[in-house]
Amino acid sequence: MMMCKGATRLMSLKQDRRLTFQERISLRLHLSMCGACRQCDRQFALLHRAGERFESRLSDASRDDASRQAGPERSE
Ligand SMILES: [Zn+2]
Repeated sequence: MMMCKGATRLMSLKQDRRLTFQERISLRLHLSMCGACRQCDRQFALLHRAGERFESRLSDASRDDASRQAGPERSE
């Protein structure tokens, strides 16, 4: 059975790229047996989502700026 260290590595890897079938299976197997790693997996997902929100907020902000500058100034 894969150790927690290996499972954590896969969890972090999973945020960056698709896991291979083999990796997914061994991670899932480990998570089904290890409560600590299940908790850790949730934290990883949470962190990842928070990061995505932050990035999309950044790109939203720059989009807003761009549209304000190039915005139509219709007076009619
Ligand atoms: Zn574990």
